[in-house]
Amino acid sequence: MSDLRERAQALDTGDALAPLRELFTLDDTVYLDGNSLGALPRHVPARVQEVLTREWGELRIRSWGESGWWTAPERIGDRIAPIVGAAAGQIVVGDSTSVNVFKALVAATRLAPEGRDEILVDARTFPTDGYIAASAARMTGHRIVPVDPADVPDALGPRTAAVLLNHVDYRSGRLHDLPGLTAAVRAAGAIAVWDLCHSAGALPVGLDEHGVDLAVGCTYKYLNGGPGSPAYLYVAERHQASFDSPLPGWTSHADPFAMTPGYTPADGAVRGRVGTPDILSMLALEASLDVWDGVGIEAVRAKSLALTDFFLECVEAYAPEGRVTSVTPAAHAERGSQVALRCDDAEPVMAELIARGVVGDLRRPDVLRFGFTPLYVGFADAERAARVLAGVLGAPTA
Ligand SMILES: *Cc1c(COP(=O)(O)O)cnc(C)c1O
Repeated sequence: MSDLRERAQALDTGDALAPLRELFTLDDTVYLDGNSLGALPRHVPARVQEVLTREWGELRIRSWGESGWWTAPERIGDRIAPIVGAAAGQIVVGDSTSVNVFKALVAATRLAPEGRDEILVDARTFPTDGYIAASAARMTGHRIVPVDPADVPDALGPRTAAVLLNHVDYRSGRLHDLPGLTAAVRAAGAIAVWDLCHSAGALPVGLDEHGVDLAVGCTYKYLNGGPGSPAYLYVAERHQASFDSPLPGWTSHADPFAMTPGYTPADGAVRGRVGTPDILSMLALEASLDVWDGVGIEAVRAKSLALTDFFLECVEAYAPEGRVTSVTPAAHAERGSQVALRCDDAEPVMAELIARGVVGDLRRPDVLRFGFTPLYVGFADAERAARVLAGVLGAPTA
């Protein structure tokens, strides 16, 4: 057996998180796409069945109160809070990330000091954030300034109202300096809005500790909430009283069942709600969060870095010279939980990888993306993925 295979086995044996894999429904493929759609925790189908048959089927309307449906958005927000370093009462679950980007960004312009007319947006942002920011800017009379996250400190000025950044770049896997950039944005008197889609559940975020103003994120990637599971919105407690949502739906009203014609916002995180919550998806998410019980995000981060280091080492050892180049930063401080490899023929290579049981994904035109989800991916998976990749790339003995 090769040296790297032996090391993989030893690393798996010493991995305190390894038993968590048993909590998930997996097969013998190597699943490295959990940064796009997290795997299914085994106990979730039974819980969803119970919601359908008991809570909906038998209790029907009573479940809004008796089954806790009405308060699910803020209750589940409080379950996500420790994973992203937030105290309770600041996160509400609901809607998609796209919709929450809209809420957060428009609200940010309303929180910012009068007369500021620029919104800085991560120039390489995930597309939906950019599209929504452009529309929000048109609606609110702001101007979008695309900026590389590293250049944000120089781009900030007396005209900056808000800054929208991705914590981890979805394509390259680069981790941006949330503490430093947030401090710079706040020092300039602007509002920092972070998109946590590729960091929440993969690494410590520290929303409260670093003074983030507003944040959004999805739950179907590293949080394993299921396809289309609802996203979340974080509004720091200091901003809640003046958080002015552009989508003030009735479920964010201080007294929703009074059905009054005038809008009075509820206090706290609830103010970020819009309409009737999507209960089935939301309760599947709630159940899936059980896998985090007793799991510390620091341990997840340590394993994630060890996994991506080990995968890169295996690729280096196995892959034919010059066929792939990592675009994921080598420095731990700049790395998320994925490895992105540039490859000229990325599309057929990924198709063949998937055919051989290694599931990653493709970011056109030339990026092979491998997500490492420490709750259920191990070191033997990383070694096997690199070995199969090398074979697909034409290495003779892999
Ligand atoms: C996955 C992802 C989204 C997804 O938005 P949806 O509204 O759920 O489709 C948004 N932003 C970033 C940075 C993402 O990685």
